[in-house]
Amino acid sequence: MTQTYPEFIWHNGAIKPWAEATTHVMAHAVHYGSSVFEGIRSYKTPRGAMIFRLQDHLRRLFNSARIYAMAMPYDQAQLTAACRAVMQANKLEAAYLRPVAYLGLGGFGLAADCPTDVAIAARPMGAYLGEGVLEQGIDACVSSWQRFAPNTIPAGAKAGGNYLSGQLIAREARRLGFGEGIALAHNGLLSEGAGENLFLVMDGALHTPPVAASLLNGITRHTLITLAEQAGIKVVERDLPREYLYLADEVFMCGTAAEITPIRSVDGRSIGNGGMGPITRRMQRLYFGLFDGSTADQWGWLEPVTG
Ligand code: PMP
Repeated sequence: MTQTYPEFIWHNGAIKPWAEATTHVMAHAVHYGSSVFEGIRSYKTPRGAMIFRLQDHLRRLFNSARIYAMAMPYDQAQLTAACRAVMQANKLEAAYLRPVAYLGLGGFGLAADCPTDVAIAARPMGAYLGEGVLEQGIDACVSSWQRFAPNTIPAGAKAGGNYLSGQLIAREARRLGFGEGIALAHNGLLSEGAGENLFLVMDGALHTPPVAASLLNGITRHTLITLAEQAGIKVVERDLPREYLYLADEVFMCGTAAEITPIRSVDGRSIGNGGMGPITRRMQRLYFGLFDGSTADQWGWLEPVTG
């Protein structure tokens, strides 16, 4: 498939033409997965183009680097300016931003001293799990691959290497004809999707696995917990066994890319009436309301691209 790329990218302190943002084949990250990254969306809103929870994403990027003791050559204010600059250079409003910090070319070996290189790409992006899925939902399966145990690889760091797990889960699901895979944690209880957190609706309350369940502490997950509690919907963070997926009234996935994607079946068992359930719809309205102005942004989550 031919790809079109944005015109500009931010790389190591400068806006460059896309083709010039290159790295050496012997960079540490190419061999060992030593990168940390973020996925951030901006939306076109009545108040102009806004980046959603940029500071929270950048904080998580710095936390991911900290977990791996990766030196960061820029501070949060500099990366904030860089995100805005790459959006403006590409004249983007609704977009997906991808900051990545990675160990570059240095010594050889796992513990080698290597510089940290940083890039930020931005491009338009529609619904991550496919056209129409935000309304129709997806068919999901429980993966044969479990997530890594907490004493093996820290799931709380959004590191490149973690996504080997995500690729196994996502590719297996697609190969079997499912829209996405759901993974169990090391202890056999529910964890998360390949690149999304998971919510179950049972008796009108939202239930979601706890952060200790080998999952990424998602910013969308936190957004939904905050919006639900404010709307008087009970939220329970708890260990959940696999079979609750089959018994739940509604199931949905959430993430920056996936936004709020209803799950209409799991392992061939239809969820609820097989369409989007009322609580999922309500959560979608509250979430997208932040961008069309119908949900007040009381938290300062929207940050302008310009100005
Ligand atoms: N889990 C994984 C493994 C992810 O890659 C993502 C996407 N970043 C999420 C959950 C959702 O996180 P967020 O809401 O911060 O995008």
